[in-house]
This record gives sequence, C-alpha cells and structure tokens, in this order.
Amino acid sequence: MVVGLGPVGATAALILAQAGCEVTVLEADASLDRDLAESRASTFHPPTLQMLDDLGVGEELHRRGLISRSYQYRDRHEGLVAEFDLSVLDGDTAFPYRLQSEQQNLVDIIHRRLTTMPNVEIVLGARVESARREDGLAVVRTGGERPREWRAPWVLAADGASSTVRKCLGVDFPGMTYPERFLIVSVEDDLSALIPGICEVNYVSDPEEWLVLLRTPRHWRVLFPVPDAADTASVTAPGAVQDRLRALAPNPGGYTVAHTSLYHVHQRVADGFRHGPFLLAGDAAHLNNPLGGMGMNSGIHDAVDAAHSVLAAIGGDTSPADGYSGRRRDAALNLVRTATHRNWENLQQKSADQRRRNHEELSRTAADPASARDYLRVSSMLVSRA
Ligand SMILES: Cc1cc2nc3c(=O)[nH]c(=O)nc-3n(C[C@H](O)[C@H](O)[C@H](O)COP(=O)(O)OP(=O)(O)OC[C@H]3O[C@@H](n4cnc5c(N)ncnc54)[C@H](O)[C@@H]3O)c2cc1C
Repeated sequence: MVVGLGPVGATAALILAQAGCEVTVLEADASLDRDLAESRASTFHPPTLQMLDDLGVGEELHRRGLISRSYQYRDRHEGLVAEFDLSVLDGDTAFPYRLQSEQQNLVDIIHRRLTTMPNVEIVLGARVESARREDGLAVVRTGGERPREWRAPWVLAADGASSTVRKCLGVDFPGMTYPERFLIVSVEDDLSALIPGICEVNYVSDPEEWLVLLRTPRHWRVLFPVPDAADTASVTAPGAVQDRLRALAPNPGGYTVAHTSLYHVHQRVADGFRHGPFLLAGDAAHLNNPLGGMGMNSGIHDAVDAAHSVLAAIGGDTSPADGYSGRRRDAALNLVRTATHRNWENLQQKSADQRRRNHEELSRTAADPASARDYLRVSSMLVSRA
C-alpha cells in the first residue's frame, strides 16, 4: 500500500506495480488536477532522471521539460561569479544536465500509467486519518463519507511534510525552522531578456536580499527571502511584489505575475524511516530548504530504495528493508541537509571577506574540470554524502 500520490508515492507505486505486486494507493485529494504554476519542485537531477528512465517515464518527462546544461552563482551587485557546466559529468551519467519540469508533470505521467494497470487500485479522496501496527500488519483508516480500514503487509508512507502516518506512529521529527519565509513569484516575463547573461538556474548571493532565479517550461520563478515577522498580506500584495521584481530588474510595463506563494521552510529528519511494516519516504521522512533542488529528488531516491526493499522482502530477503532507514537517513542528513544548508549560508553571507573567499573558491572550482566534476557529483546527487 502507498499513502500519498505525490512524486514520491507515485514513483514507489509504479515500481511495485511493474514488478507485479497488488498495489493500493490512498490519496487525500479528490482530484490531481493541480495548478502547474503553483507546483513546487521543478528540477530533476541526473541520478533521478536515470531512475525515472529505468521506469519508462523519462522520455515523456523530457517532452514536458527543458534541459538546463549549466547553472550560475552570481552576486547581486557584481554579476557572474561562476558558471558550472554539467557536461563534465559526461562519463558519470547518461543525463549530464538538470531537467526543469514541474513535479506535477511527473505525478500526472505516472498516474496515467498506473490507471492502465490491472493490479493497481487508486483511491482518490481517501485521507488517511490513523495508522497503527497490528499482528505484524500495517493498518490504516481513511475518513470521509465512507470511512474504511485497510490492512497491508507493507505501507509506504509518502503523505508529505505533515504526514499523518508519521504522527500516528509517534515518530519524532527533530530539526529547525529557518528564520525567514520564502516568497516564490512566477512571472510570464522573460527574465533572461531583462537580466542579460543569466542561464536557466541562478543562485544570486547578497547580504540584504539573496535570490534564486530559475526557468520552468512555462515561467520564470524568483525566490526571495522574507523576514519571518513581515506581515503576509503586505508581502504578497501585488504592488509590493512588483516593487521587489522592479528592484531586481526594471521592466517598463510592469511584470505579469502568474503565481505567488509565501511559505515557512524547515530542516527536519524523522527519527527512523522504518517502523515495522511502515516505511516513511520523501517529505514525510525529511524536509530541507529548496536551495539546490534536493527535496523531491532525494524523496524519489527514497521511493526507489523503499520499493525495491519491499520487493526483496516479499521475495524472502528482509535485509534491504532492515537497512532502508540507515541508508536513506544517512543521505538525508549527510548530503541533503549539509548541501542545502551550506547553500543558504553562502547566499546570505554577511561578511564581505567571507563572501569574497566563497566567490573565489566557486570561481576556481568551476574553472577546473576535475574540481568542477567533484563539486557537481555532490550538487547533482550522484554521491550520497556531501
Ligand atoms: C517552493 C518549493 C520549491 C521546491 N523546489 C524543489 C526542487 O526544485 N527540487 C526538489 O527536489 N525539491 C523541491 N522542493 C521540495 C519538493 O516539492 C518536495 O520535496 C516534494 O513535493 C516531496 O514529494 P512527496 O511526494 O514526498 O510529498 P508531496 O509532494 O507533498 O505529496 C504528498 C501527497 O500525499 C497526499 N497526502 C497528504 N496527506 C495525506 C493523507 N493523510 N492521506 C492520504 N494522502 C495524503 C497529498 O495530497 C499529496 O498528494 C520544493 C518545495 C517547495 C515548497
């Protein structure tokens, strides 16, 4: 059984279904028709592209995405600091680039595949309200108009950041909340025409207001940090959003804003990812800041590991499932948490001396192919530790 049909649950369900398992997917939302501009993750890293290609969904995802072969570190006042060219990873991966595509595209592609498979039952509008272990089985209860209890030998819980399954099992979720909220603004305007020299993904450092600029197939997105104490209504007011964008790059006619969202950012890792027949995966198991695009990607890596662990256990070998929590917690703590937090620290560095040293190091690393490869193997998640 899989709880949650986000990118993580969908990937796990497809692996299990392709292996011939009877799979039930319980999804709280009654419809998966989500607004693409609203969607969150939009970057797929090389190893994730390999995993999705192995599942037969890579080609369709590429058709709904755009390939980004390099990314930049910039300084808000000094401009380009370093440009990393992912083609130095040619010998490491068949996908030496980032694919920019909204996460909902992946969910949509996999959902349509799953609906054609006779061994898959997808129940929309089925919100899991409780979860417990009983006689070695996982038992979950869904609410709504027709409450029901479900039993399964294995449950893969991919029910997102507020995971009901995690809470019902009493699993601690220690960590911290960042001192600022992140404002994401998607615009119809072509930022590359307004800010000459940028590429599709740009991390822009500044002690006052650092930024991320990135292109999705439909929009340009800008991520601004906002002090936690700032009033939500005034931060998201259309005039205030235009002012922030104009301060970034003047645009005589004003910007056409497609979507705005303001949210808290957490860094948390669950105390264990395996609890008897329950395996936690994705945001249900770990949260990080989005700087580096690692949340969904590492969640998909969890899904692949968890689904194969369950398949091995069904075949009589429980050792992969026994090691699941250790392997995936290690990646969450020592790759995702370390790399994304370092990105945050570097982007908002207040010390001019330290900022200059960071910039010199980035520029040196990007200029030397061997150093750039080592660096990109971490930022592209080709290794499991930073
Ligand atoms: C602004 C932003 C930008 C981001 N950018 C990136 C990026 O570029 N790259 C990246 O890798 N990550 C990024 N992330 C993180 C990424 O969006 C998440 O890590 C990813 O969505 C996790 O997928 P998931 O399937 O675990 O959870 P979700 O996508 O949250 O899916 C959970 C699913 O479970 C369902 N559900 C919830 N509760 C229940 C319940 N009780 N019963 C049944 N179903 C339930 C939900 O309806 C949903 O369908 C970003 C996040 C944000 C907020």
